[in-house]
Amino acid sequence: MADSSLRQLPSVERLLGHPLTSSLIESYGRTLTIEALRAALDDARARLRSGSESSLDNAWLIHRARAKMDSWLAPTLRRAINATGVIVHTNLGRAPLADSAIQAVREVAVGYSTLEFDLESGGRGTRSVHAEALLKHITGAEGALVVNNNAAAVLLSLAALAGPTRDYPQGRGVLISRSQLVEIGGGFRMPDVMAQSGARMIEVGTTNRTHLHDYATPIEPNTALILRVHRSNFALLGFTTEPSLADLVGLAREHDLMVVDDLGSGALIDTTQFGLAPEPTAQASLAAGADLVMFSGDKLLGGPQAGILVGRGAVIEQLEHHPLMRALRPDKLCLAALAATLVHYLKGDALEQIPVWRMIGLPLPEVEARARRWADMLSAAGLPGEVIPGHSAIGGGSLPGEMLPTFLLAIRVPSPDEAASRLRAGDPPVIVRIEDDCLIVDPRTVLDRDEDDLLVALRSIKQAVHHS
Ligand SMILES: *Cc1c(COP(=O)(O)O)cnc(C)c1O
Repeated sequence: MADSSLRQLPSVERLLGHPLTSSLIESYGRTLTIEALRAALDDARARLRSGSESSLDNAWLIHRARAKMDSWLAPTLRRAINATGVIVHTNLGRAPLADSAIQAVREVAVGYSTLEFDLESGGRGTRSVHAEALLKHITGAEGALVVNNNAAAVLLSLAALAGPTRDYPQGRGVLISRSQLVEIGGGFRMPDVMAQSGARMIEVGTTNRTHLHDYATPIEPNTALILRVHRSNFALLGFTTEPSLADLVGLAREHDLMVVDDLGSGALIDTTQFGLAPEPTAQASLAAGADLVMFSGDKLLGGPQAGILVGRGAVIEQLEHHPLMRALRPDKLCLAALAATLVHYLKGDALEQIPVWRMIGLPLPEVEARARRWADMLSAAGLPGEVIPGHSAIGGGSLPGEMLPTFLLAIRVPSPDEAASRLRAGDPPVIVRIEDDCLIVDPRTVLDRDEDDLLVALRSIKQAVHHS
């Protein structure tokens, strides 16, 4: 019986002539449709052989082909709603862009642009002009440079300033405290990056305590620089000490070394005004005498993925001319978004216009009012929730352990794991926290444009709860 139903399966050519197939070809193209019909026929044969089906008709095959193409073509990089309360959420794409940045990306994406074109001379320009002047203006640095991300900024700096050269074929020494040999995440570990760059790592001090003389002792003629790495994703507490940046700069000057400061997130705005610990600013590092300072574009800066380097003009120039630069350079969409984001710092409206800062600065009564409004709407829909005090996190390698007071919407459901997974399966997916057997929604990280979709999604779990 299976044999006869197998023999009755149509050929791909026959299916192509079926009236239902024409709409498939129209939507998905002929080549992909043929591939999907073949795959659907394979599935049918497997089912008939296994006996799980006794016959399968053309409608089943065509439907199957459509489902295959839908799943092949469905984007995996999709918009998502962040209700976790973690503001710079690396897994959810870090910083949402300011409206002006989105507009700038669109302008540059839809057509040609002045990426490397000098309008004055009509000849070749350089892509480094687009964000560089703004960065210099904001930070007061002599030079500025943008690369693909901050990991690239660290790699490029070490390779260019301490990597192998004709005079130093083994690379030059880089002093770093053992308390700063960090792993950022995603396999980015300082000792590995150092090895990749060709620089020679010289570990100094101990895990908890490093003194200025620890840096001084191993200095040799081929030592190039002192690298300081901000502890951006963990805290060191208790019996600890390390020299200030100014002390490191003093020592470096004595021995003709450079000081390179990896700030990680870096902030251009004082975080203490929000009751947070001070996040080091690029301006402060430069003022303390660092030769080169680097930070991410999409952490507390609130822009696109980028690595930003600011510092002494001659040092920046050295990086610009390194062969790695061509491999690490930013694309036009990044530069458009970054320049538009930076403008807000110069105009002084970053707190209002850059989403990351708007979320950090969102007044507590506003968060509470939002949570209460949602609680009322959901309770009217039969899904009671409670508004409770809690904490939002900065996240993304910024201000580890630092929390902002917030108000949360806590929704008690029979199975919070199942409810959270349903929310993730929705369109758009909604990401929440689970605490004490409740779904926890933090209004602080939910953008205004996401509010309606969030409430629709939450109402839908009520139906799911009641149906099961
Ligand atoms: C986040 C971080 C990096 C890496 O920055 P990306 O922009 O994510 O590449 C490097 N160093 C420190 C200290 C960081 O916090």
